[in-house]
Amino acid sequence: MTNLLTGYLEDRSTAQYFCFSISCEVCGEFWYSSSVPFSKAGQAAEHREKRELYDAVYQREKNRARLAAGREAVERFSQCPICRRLVCDSCFLICDEMDMCRECAGRLKESGEPVAP
Ligand SMILES: [Zn+2]
Ligand SMILES: [Zn+2]
Repeated sequence: MTNLLTGYLEDRSTAQYFCFSISCEVCGEFWYSSSVPFSKAGQAAEHREKRELYDAVYQREKNRARLAAGREAVERFSQCPICRRLVCDSCFLICDEMDMCRECAGRLKESGEPVAP
């Protein structure tokens, strides 16, 4: 699931910090990961000669931040087993036979409670 989510993450990072977002495919609401500061943000601006080095550090920290964002997103998103879309907890219902997104639940006339009301 984390791998799946990592693929959905949109990069919102800047030169100063790393941040990623995911939008729910049912309600369209955006979720943003906790932003992680780039450890060399100050130095990178001052020491232009080390640019290549700091670029490499930046990429490495960004990859870590992406994985952390994926882990964070797992707590808030689920994949609907019917339509296979990625939906937020407000759009994902706990139903009797199988949990699913609220659009599928409506179509299949299943009822349930959202994971996060
Ligand atoms: Zn939603
Ligand atoms: Zn669905």
